[in-house]
Amino acid sequence: MRPTVVEVSLARLGDNFRAVRAAVAPAAVMPIVKANAYGHGLVEVARHLVALGAPSLGVAFLEEALALRRAGVAVPILVMGGILGNQIPVFLRHGLTLTASSIDKLRQIDDAARDLGVTAKVHLKIDTGMERIGVHYYSAHGLLERASECRHTVVEGIYSHFAAADAADLTSARVQLARFLEVLEWYDKQGVPPPVRHIANSGAILQLPESHLDLVRAGILLYGVYPSPEVRRTIAVRPALSWKSRVVYFKVVTPGHAVGYGSTWQADHPVRVVTIPVGYGDGYFRALSNAAEIIVRGRKYPVVGRVCMDQVMVNIEWDTAYNGDEVVLLGEAGGEAITCEDLAEWAGTIPYEVLTNINTRVPRVYV
Ligand SMILES: *Cc1c(COP(=O)(O)O)cnc(C)c1O
Repeated sequence: MRPTVVEVSLARLGDNFRAVRAAVAPAAVMPIVKANAYGHGLVEVARHLVALGAPSLGVAFLEEALALRRAGVAVPILVMGGILGNQIPVFLRHGLTLTASSIDKLRQIDDAARDLGVTAKVHLKIDTGMERIGVHYYSAHGLLERASECRHTVVEGIYSHFAAADAADLTSARVQLARFLEVLEWYDKQGVPPPVRHIANSGAILQLPESHLDLVRAGILLYGVYPSPEVRRTIAVRPALSWKSRVVYFKVVTPGHAVGYGSTWQADHPVRVVTIPVGYGDGYFRALSNAAEIIVRGRKYPVVGRVCMDQVMVNIEWDTAYNGDEVVLLGEAGGEAITCEDLAEWAGTIPYEVLTNINTRVPRVYV
């Protein structure tokens, strides 16, 4: 196996899941496992969380849900993204839960279910301020009425999504929650119990307990990463993912000799530089060139020169390192840590992109 691996701690994942579950009870937790479970490995993460009692899972699109079904994951799976008409029969044949984000899509789902002689399971999607998918809150009653008339579709849930629940200022999140609750009053007025109501993502799980309702959709928090620097850390979680590699080359670089493509870095004194077999072709951002640090033998050292597609160079000054020594790109070693937040800051992005950018070329190992 190549020396560059992502190591996932299933124990930490489990601890995080239990911490979130305890904090939001009696609301249920739907783990979100889209984007290869935020880089942690779709099938392994899903199986582990289902074994720990996760009653359902959420993904972004159809193929992710099909991969779970193929792996034998049998719990309800909500596909949260927008759908196209020709995908609907595939959803129905695999017993997947669809997001009905407009009256038109709901009608297509109900028709397809009638044609196949099955009952479709849907969650209605209300747009309360994200302007992504969903029926606007101010015209949602039409969707709820039509849904109640469908004869081949059961509405199992109704949901919305926050645009800024991980911000320090929760004003807009509170407005979105109020809009959602107002839409839900329709059920009271009809005298029927509402389906499963949900709106909370990680930011709202941490900061807006009144938004937990019947179920929370926990994404990045389950993986032990906080959604933003300013979010209140009301639940303790720890990162489940480490990204490791090994020294494959060692040399002395003398002054006047620049390192890497574009010759962007050189020292004014002799230094020892090691080469690590990981690059932007694995998802280690090129923006980390001359910006990131990497832990070698328990100490942090700077990346020097440009990150290549498959390799990166690290200046260890006059310290020692040997071929085969373990290095940590993301994670902990010898009392030092490089976090997702560190990499996000160095690369000018957010922790979500750091995790989901680690591509499938990097083997996942479960410990
Ligand atoms: C990705 C996603 C989530 C999870 O978001 P986190 O911030 O990672 O918790 C929840 N709901 C929807 C609709 C999503 O797309």
